[in-house]
Amino acid sequence: MTDTAYGMWIGGQWCDSQEGECFSSINPATGEINGSVPRGQAADVDRAVAAARLAFDEGEWPRMSYQDRGEVLRQIAHLIRENARELAELETRDNGKPIKETTLIDIPTAADTFEGFAGMAGELKGETIPVGAPLFCHTRYEPIGVIAQIIPWNYPLLMAAWKLAPALFTGNTVVLKPSSLTSLTVLELARLMEQTDLPSGVVNIVTGLGPEAGRPLAAHPLVDKIALTGSTETGREVMGLAAATIKKATLELGGKSPTVVFKNADLDAAATGILATIFLNQGQMCVAGSRLLVEQGVHDALVEALVEKARRIRLGNGLDPETSMGPLISAAHREKVRGFIASGLKEGARLVSGGRVPDGKIFEKGFFLEPTIFDEVTEDMEITREEIFGPVLAVRGFATLDEAIALANATRYGLAASIWTNDMYQAYECARKIRAGTVWLNTYGNFFSEVPFGGYKQSGLGRELGGAGLREYAELKSITMDASPDRRSLITKWYGW
Ligand code: NAD
Repeated sequence: MTDTAYGMWIGGQWCDSQEGECFSSINPATGEINGSVPRGQAADVDRAVAAARLAFDEGEWPRMSYQDRGEVLRQIAHLIRENARELAELETRDNGKPIKETTLIDIPTAADTFEGFAGMAGELKGETIPVGAPLFCHTRYEPIGVIAQIIPWNYPLLMAAWKLAPALFTGNTVVLKPSSLTSLTVLELARLMEQTDLPSGVVNIVTGLGPEAGRPLAAHPLVDKIALTGSTETGREVMGLAAATIKKATLELGGKSPTVVFKNADLDAAATGILATIFLNQGQMCVAGSRLLVEQGVHDALVEALVEKARRIRLGNGLDPETSMGPLISAAHREKVRGFIASGLKEGARLVSGGRVPDGKIFEKGFFLEPTIFDEVTEDMEITREEIFGPVLAVRGFATLDEAIALANATRYGLAASIWTNDMYQAYECARKIRAGTVWLNTYGNFFSEVPFGGYKQSGLGRELGGAGLREYAELKSITMDASPDRRSLITKWYGW
């Protein structure tokens, strides 16, 4: 994994973009160039979609058994595990996230995802429906066709696995576009797939920028479904592009997830959990717990504990095994996050921790930012309303259970929530009444390939993972058969012949 000039993977071949242009992939901790990547355009998208179309319409993949496709997914999982160390290092260099995280979370979970879906044939069982003899009716799931998949930069390899594994297992063919900021591990994954029994053209990787490669992919008339993980703004645009040909769409979008802490919670466990909800992956998580609601009476003690623990978070180059927080993804993104911090100060929130670019030689060339905590926020502030996608926590108090639920729901997003309490009534009232696709009780951030994940409200459409996520990649067909001896049960009644 030392090549620095990468190609795109189309129809089983490595190639440059038709225009021959490239862009650089940067290490956000040092500003160094990791590699050059082809800058794909509409013509490259056309080639990739044609390859995927051919593999679907004439190839063996959609016609293979679940068992055989599952075996290929297991081969991919095995190769990811065999190359885990190199993939973890490359992900850290390309994205900036700590090696601890890529080693413990991103890479093994990507392998688990392929393996998990490889065993999910039971989730694609049809039904026998008793419509009345002599008719016999049953349903079956079939692949949809060519799937366009567009993914973000925050979990590059893992998001690719979440998208590819269910789409492939159900028998579809795919054109996947990684984020232009982090294409490298996805291209390495393609190199690993080359070593498996995956037929050519079943997976195609087009690299490039959103407007230049993503847009023509989402709009392509020969694509049957688009699956996007990205911001709500991009989701809105992609949904519009999909409308022209009534493509199916799954959209996994932004969030502004609440963490609710009640007085009787284990405050020390809650404080550690809260730090993870907002500072893991530098806060660049769709499920970041960016709004903290704390019951009066424990508010001050909890904020004090958070500030004390936040000071102990070690910032640095992600390749250092001691680092627990790396740089943000890019200079532009750090400026955007700093803009939110300035807005919080201007609107009167109380900054209790962080907020600055850290001092020190090791931070000079990277895009680092301190873990930041604002207290005494109000609902009208920008930092309470907008997805910041960075290490910025907005804290406020609440007095009653009803108020906590109302505040938790005071957002246009609905991706996740985390509740900390030792009272089962409080826990379940929150879990039932908070309008979000995932609720964690006394925990945070647990994902499993068997458990569906997705958003309410403007956090998205459809589900990923689990049986529900798998079926997003399948068409449901009803088959009705006349089992009477003369095959005349229904039609005859109509004409009377
Ligand atoms: P983004 O929306 O800027 O980009 C996501 C992908 O879409 C990239 O590959 C990009 O190149 C492409 N893209 C951009 N504009 C496009 C267009 N007009 N047409 C087609 N494709 C286009 O998001 P990002 O900055 O890469 O990632 C951060 C966002 O992703 C956050 O909002 C975060 O909440 C969200 N996210 C959601 C989930 C989830 O599961 N709900 C998971 C991870 C990230």
